[in-house]
Amino acid sequence: MITRKRFPLGSRERPLQVAIVGSGPSGFYTADTLLKQKDLHLNVDMFERMAMPYGLVRYGVAPDHQKTKQVIRIYEATAGDPRFRFFGNVQVGRDLQVKELQEHYDQIVYAVGCESDRRLSIPGEDLPGSHTATAFVAWYNGHPDHRDDRFDLSVRRVAVVGVGNVAMDVTRILVQDPEGLASTDIAEHALQALRRSSVEEVVVLGRRGPVQAKFTPKEIREIGDLSGVDLTVRPQDLELDSLARSQLEKGGFARRNFEYLKGQVCRGARHGRRRVGLRFFTSPMEIQAKRGRVGSVRMERNRLVWDEQGRSRCVGTGVFESIEVGLVFRSVGYRGIPIPDVPFDERKGLIPNAAGRVLRPRGGEAGTTEYVVGWIKRGPSGLIGANKRDSAETVREMMKDIQGRAARTLPEGNPGVPERLLRERGVRPVHFRDWQRIDAEEQERGRKRGKVREKITDPQEVVALLKKGQCRKADKSPG
Ligand code: NAP
Repeated sequence: MITRKRFPLGSRERPLQVAIVGSGPSGFYTADTLLKQKDLHLNVDMFERMAMPYGLVRYGVAPDHQKTKQVIRIYEATAGDPRFRFFGNVQVGRDLQVKELQEHYDQIVYAVGCESDRRLSIPGEDLPGSHTATAFVAWYNGHPDHRDDRFDLSVRRVAVVGVGNVAMDVTRILVQDPEGLASTDIAEHALQALRRSSVEEVVVLGRRGPVQAKFTPKEIREIGDLSGVDLTVRPQDLELDSLARSQLEKGGFARRNFEYLKGQVCRGARHGRRRVGLRFFTSPMEIQAKRGRVGSVRMERNRLVWDEQGRSRCVGTGVFESIEVGLVFRSVGYRGIPIPDVPFDERKGLIPNAAGRVLRPRGGEAGTTEYVVGWIKRGPSGLIGANKRDSAETVREMMKDIQGRAARTLPEGNPGVPERLLRERGVRPVHFRDWQRIDAEEQERGRKRGKVREKITDPQEVVALLKKGQCRKADKSPG
């Protein structure tokens, strides 16, 4: 036992030991904010279930949004800090238990994002050919868990349910010329499948109106700007009630979206090679089968009702319609999944918290050693940059909580803890220097194909590459 009691927590003699679970934007912004605290001595260990870091930046951001991915340069700088260590291929709750982290670290931050999806809860949702949009996104982004997924792109018409930015990403990937993706980091299996695709039309279903659409102006414009693609909106969907009109008057992105859609109606059809039809005020009621798989979607026309706070929801009008489709992508939002031994709000799909402090069930009081950041804290919304503010809020609470707190005795020197436990369990962590070797190898493979990178999607291949030292030697790198 090492006794460091007499030194304050966060002092040179007794640095604060922080574990961050998850390596997406919220995890990295938290690490960065912590490492920049003045007059604080600390070490940060980051655990990630995937072998590779960056979460949704690697596996969520669309391949034709390479600029967005440049944010990893900031995360690389964070990882270069000698007080930071990365443990990829380590799943908390399986390879390391939360109780062990609690024992060995002063503070734990859960930055695990939302790894599952909301359900539509309609008949036929689980028919073959009905997929979550997020599975499709993970597939074209080379996520190891989805590399063997199959999407039947031999169909002519596809329905996408939901009008958020994920729906826009999926739609854009389905209708654009795949040659425009050929130089990106799109997974090769997806590029080949898209080249063979017969999809001609994507029908996008929004349950409320165009003013309530969640997509942002840039994303809808990107679809309208695609060459050879007609973006259409039904004129009746742009007829607004007085409350929607007053919402528009507030300006913001809803207004810019609306103006753009109005422009699309005026422009009329251009007879492109492929079509995207936006249908607002439309809810899918049933996904119907044809020969055992998706054959059509039965939909109901909606109207909006407003509450006293000015919030709208949709109600059915009893007017139904069916359209034939061969595939359905359900893009109705992400949902968090629980971590063993960590409180979870099943209804909201989040870790219950107060300004980032995890609320443990006994009386629901906020703890002072466990924290949460990002989507699993506030819900699956907001662009990457929103996680910076969010992490800053949690770090402020973390710093308040160590003020005047007596440093507890740690069971052993922290820097050795995870390695020993993982070694005993036969788990080979992927450290940041390992990732840099993989990164170099992926870029090299990409270069040979004229792509930004070719992602390695097989976890066994990662292990083999690291074992055999087949990767190109990386520069001096942090652990
Ligand atoms: P989102 O923005 O919350 O959109 C979800 C959509 O699903 C909404 O249109 C919602 O309609 C609809 N929906 C929910 N339940 C439904 C139901 N039962 N039936 C029909 N429709 C339903 O979620 P997201 O698209 O998954 O995006 C998540 C976050 O990531 C967002 O903040 C997004 O901006 C961000 N993101 C950004 C980019 C980018 O910048 N390019 C790309 C991808 C994701 P209601 O509004 O009526 O609930």
